[in-house]
Amino acid sequence: MTAGHIMACHDCDLLHRLPAVADGMRATCCRCGAALARPKRNGLERALALAVTGLVLLALANSFPFLGFKIQGQARETLLLTGIRQLYTQEMQGVAVLVFITTVLAPLAQLLVLVYILLPLKLNRRAPGMFQVFRWLRTIEPWSMMEVFMLGILVSVVKLAKMAQIIPGIAAFCFMALIFVLAACMASLDPHVVWERWEEPQ
Ligand SMILES: [Zn+2]
Repeated sequence: MTAGHIMACHDCDLLHRLPAVADGMRATCCRCGAALARPKRNGLERALALAVTGLVLLALANSFPFLGFKIQGQARETLLLTGIRQLYTQEMQGVAVLVFITTVLAPLAQLLVLVYILLPLKLNRRAPGMFQVFRWLRTIEPWSMMEVFMLGILVSVVKLAKMAQIIPGIAAFCFMALIFVLAACMASLDPHVVWERWEEPQ
């Protein structure tokens, strides 16, 4: 946040006039000690780079084999989307839709929104409807649950390990990397920086 701005402490509501805070340092509330501002160096650029990386990883995770099974000499490979389709055909439409939304649709929407907002900001422009889209990002965020899906996969792999040989595919590694990339991207993104850039005259 810009120095001189008045802001309320998120924890105790005490009003502060923000001092200039150097990168890597933080301003804390003088009453309760909560962090008021913690500027991140190149936060916007880092978030943009991570969002683009995330899109590439998501594309790879959906195009390459996710898991391979070898049972009694027979080998079989599945894609992430094939698994979801299998759920759908096995009378588990609700679960299939939920898995599709939380592992493919929500992360894709999240990454596209991030690039849509951050790329023009980097070029000192504003994307049309940026304000609404940025709010929308907060709504999609809780629906992105790739780590829950990955945990489910790990549990079933451990259970199936005795019956079949399981080979994780390229997509599984990309998917795992995507979980960390998306988390790092959201952590690098400081909403205050986005609002400030938005308020600046073009
Ligand atoms: Zn406080």
